[in-house]
Amino acid sequence: MARASALRLIVTLGAALALALSAASTAAAQSHPLRIGVYDNPPLSKVENGQVAGGLFVELFEQVAEAEGWEYEWVTLDFGEGMALVEKGDLDALLVVAVTEERREQFDFTKSSIWANWGVVAVRDGSPIRSLAQLKGKKIAVLEEDTYYSGSQGVRDLLEGLGIEANYLFLPDYEAALDALDDRAVDAAVVSRVAHRMHRGESGLTQLAVVKPVQLGIAFPRSAHSLRLASAIDAHIPGLIADPAGAYNRTLRELFEAPEPAVQQRIPTWALWALAALAAGVGGLAAVAWGLRRVVRLRTQDLRRALDRMETLFAANPDMQFVLDAEGRMLRFEPSPELAPYVPPEEFLGKTVSEVLPPEASSIIVPALARALDYAGTPVRCSYALPGADGAPRHYDCHMAATTRGEILAIVHDSTEVHELLAELQRERDNLEAEVEARTVELRSAATELRHASAAKSRFLSHVSHELRTPLNSIVGFTETLLAGMAGPLNEEQTRQLEMVRRSGSHLVDLVNEILDLSRIESGRTHVDPSEFTTSDVLADVTAAMGSAASSRGLEFRLDDCDTVTLHTDRRMLRQILLNLTVNAVKFTSEGGVSVECREDRDRVRFHVLDTGPGIPESARASIFDPFTRVGTDEEAVPGGFGLGLSISAGLAETLGGRLELVSSSGRGSEFVLEIPKRFPES
Ligand code: ADP
Repeated sequence: MARASALRLIVTLGAALALALSAASTAAAQSHPLRIGVYDNPPLSKVENGQVAGGLFVELFEQVAEAEGWEYEWVTLDFGEGMALVEKGDLDALLVVAVTEERREQFDFTKSSIWANWGVVAVRDGSPIRSLAQLKGKKIAVLEEDTYYSGSQGVRDLLEGLGIEANYLFLPDYEAALDALDDRAVDAAVVSRVAHRMHRGESGLTQLAVVKPVQLGIAFPRSAHSLRLASAIDAHIPGLIADPAGAYNRTLRELFEAPEPAVQQRIPTWALWALAALAAGVGGLAAVAWGLRRVVRLRTQDLRRALDRMETLFAANPDMQFVLDAEGRMLRFEPSPELAPYVPPEEFLGKTVSEVLPPEASSIIVPALARALDYAGTPVRCSYALPGADGAPRHYDCHMAATTRGEILAIVHDSTEVHELLAELQRERDNLEAEVEARTVELRSAATELRHASAAKSRFLSHVSHELRTPLNSIVGFTETLLAGMAGPLNEEQTRQLEMVRRSGSHLVDLVNEILDLSRIESGRTHVDPSEFTTSDVLADVTAAMGSAASSRGLEFRLDDCDTVTLHTDRRMLRQILLNLTVNAVKFTSEGGVSVECREDRDRVRFHVLDTGPGIPESARASIFDPFTRVGTDEEAVPGGFGLGLSISAGLAETLGGRLELVSSSGRGSEFVLEIPKRFPES
């Protein structure tokens, strides 16, 4: 105790000495009374009816001035005027000014921490405005020069930074701003925390946000004189703050019901000095805290938005949703508007899946929950059935995922309808498969029957044809013998009738031969006999046979653009195909001509047989290669034939490894294209 008193004595003496020196210098330099600006900002400075009426800063200044022997006069004004006058140097000091970075550029300030303050964005109790975001488009009462409004990081900065546009009503002091809020002239007011507490005792008001903690000090015009004044005040402040019965602690008590001075009296002076230093540090920390608070506020907004989105998602989902803990206990349930849960929520909330659901379902769900927990964030699916109200099973699809904190979110969808549809579909599919199977068996046996029938037909035709050909050949032979007069002379009528018998007989022989050819081809009994020859060789055969037939009908017969290509195939078959095609071309063309072209195309050769006849109508093209197909009915327009030539030709083309196609259409003459390999592919 004795040591503390000695220390206090030394410190006090030191301070007194410093004060005496600075007082001497500042008092000596004073040529006129100091003009000290005071505005109404109770309890820090009070102005009543244009007269200074006390306040913390006023009392502190009075005590310093007395100790320093300064002469001074009060200049009462409003804050904005005060700032303007100090800046111009028309005031020597202005009391109660928030010390900010911008202002440090313009003014000198006391260095000691006299008072900490911050801005409050206040709304009326019960106001629907709950966040800064809701100030968009709203009217806010502010003081134009107020650092909490227009200073950097003030409310204007803050709202602009958040993209919130508000309307501001400029008022002369905090009291007026709070009155405007009471009178509903504005939706919010930006005031200092001291004004807020002082005027309203904070009742009837809600703090929407706290902004920008600052230190309050005394502002001076920038000059050497001001620096001396400031440092003289700075030297006194700690002692004045430390005085438990002084203005500082009295004001604190008035405002915040601070502890009794007697308690503080026991605190040694050195500790109060330390406290003062601490207060300055706290001021700095408060600024950092303000920055952090802003970050926290923004993050909180983000989180709220995310939460809001999630809750909306919950609400929008038509399925049932469960939140479970890592033990599978159901913590939360979001009902579905359409589905009733298996048991009412009060029976399953707080219980585990196995306690609530029958073993058939829980034996599926529990392992799925474990999987979800093992792979947090990865979706896990499971499907299970539960007995429905009517006893029939209802099917559920569950999608779940675990959070990294070990909670599981499960969405349960009633898929009974889909299930039933799928089952129905499966039944239909099974039926269809059975039907297809049965039809396939039927078709197979029909195909076998057809094959047998076709083979029987071929056998029959070949039989009948052989049986017919022998007597027919005899008839034609004997008729020719009679016609040659070998059995005696014939009269004119006998000759005419025998001529008819011979023509009909030959016709029938041709028919039988063609039927035999076709049935041989169809039954695959045609024997290919390849030999080497050129396209010119075979076309010379065709020209020899057809040239005169064409000219007798007044038609031109030409070979156009023919490459001479060496072939190794069945010459007789190729000749027969080309003859069939050219015979038809000459037969069906009444004027113009017939031409044959041939082109080599890598390992194949193509023959084109073209005419200037009527062509083949579109409707007949699909069946033109079927046996006994003849186009048109008018026998005069359609010269005689059996409708077998093209089917035999197509069959022979296939036998040679090629194909026969009709490429022209009705009205433009006919064009048949025969394509075969240059070399018959012998296996
Ligand atoms: P056929 O000539 O003995 O009647 P085909 O099988 O050779 O039998 O021909 C079938 C039918 O195709 C013919 O009756 C005829 O109507 C039509 N046809 C064939 N070639 C031509 C052609 N070059 N011009 C017009 N029609 C043709």
